[in-house]
Amino acid sequence: MRTVLVLAEPDGAAVRKATLELLTLARRLGEPAAVVLGDAGAELVAVLGRHGATTVYEVPPADPVAAMTDLAARVSPAAVLLESGAAGKEIAARLAVRLDAGILTDAVDVTAGPDGPVVTQSVLAGAWLAESQVCRGTPVITVRPNTVTPQEMPVEPVVTAVPSPGVAPVPAARVVSREPKTATGRPDLAGANVVVAGGRGFGSAEAFTLLDRLADELGAAVGASRAATDLGWCPHQLQIGQTGTTVAPQLYLAVGISGAIQHRAGMQGSHTIVAINKDPKAPIFQIADFGVVGDLHRVVPALIDEVRERRGGMSS
Ligand SMILES: Cc1cc2nc3c(=O)[nH]c(=O)nc-3n(C[C@H](O)[C@H](O)[C@H](O)COP(=O)(O)OP(=O)(O)OC[C@H]3O[C@@H](n4cnc5c(N)ncnc54)[C@H](O)[C@@H]3O)c2cc1C
Repeated sequence: MRTVLVLAEPDGAAVRKATLELLTLARRLGEPAAVVLGDAGAELVAVLGRHGATTVYEVPPADPVAAMTDLAARVSPAAVLLESGAAGKEIAARLAVRLDAGILTDAVDVTAGPDGPVVTQSVLAGAWLAESQVCRGTPVITVRPNTVTPQEMPVEPVVTAVPSPGVAPVPAARVVSREPKTATGRPDLAGANVVVAGGRGFGSAEAFTLLDRLADELGAAVGASRAATDLGWCPHQLQIGQTGTTVAPQLYLAVGISGAIQHRAGMQGSHTIVAINKDPKAPIFQIADFGVVGDLHRVVPALIDEVRERRGGMSS
């Protein structure tokens, strides 16, 4: 069976959930092997092995593209899978150029076909699903988070340290400063299981903070429509949609969001959608599983109280 390389992206000392999803998908195509930048460490190796990685390649972190190009040339994989995030997409694009191979990004599904991986993409603002295949070289595929539920398939991985490809990386850019992201204690938006998103319906930045309270009660990530981010009620990184982040949580709460097609493009893959909107004709209700027609300034505080009461009830 041919190897399928999966780039393992770190999440602090652990690994991102999206990497475990990629390992699950990789099993459909061949034998999954994880690629770790730098030393993997026993704990990380154990997690990757539990999710089916038969080999863990430790590659030099200085130039991940050169290291992965070199590795791909050695193992001739059936495909290379990466997360469809900023880092994964950048590495994927440069890797595909160096391998002279085809690339498909933002996959929402990957299956095995007779001539290699078949990639499903959600296109035209989510109105269509397109199936494509790479027809040149090693398929390089980036996959959106939350495409599958990670499944365990424990194996004992072989850890292989890959020597440096030998070419000293030439810095193409100079880092002049670094600003750590302010920790909110909330889950990462792209991979969150629960997302509460707010829109222009909140009416003001002050009212928008209600959403933070709801998120904290639910252990959710906060997201927003473009209107809310453009109004400066929350950072642009929280925008969900065609030109923002794509999410597919188990639960998506759209509060004061009309449901424009560009917003839906980034959240309609959510498992259960709940909408709170005062306009019963708002388009968001067309894709909502549950809807509350009402004024969010009354509904959200009541919801916060209810969640708090039920959680209190559970812990007592
Ligand atoms: C090229 C392009 C790309 C775009 N990309 C994105 C994108 O990535 N993401 C995105 O979100 N948008 C995007 N947009 C913008 C998009 O078209 C919409 O304008 C935007 O999503 C609207 O945001 P909204 O739903 O918050 O605001 P609105 O459309 O103004 O809706 C506000 C909603 O709040 C409801 N409401 C008002 N008051 C209350 C209340 N008190 N209680 C309950 N409900 C209330 C209203 O009934 C209404 O349905 C893009 C547009 C273009 C042209």
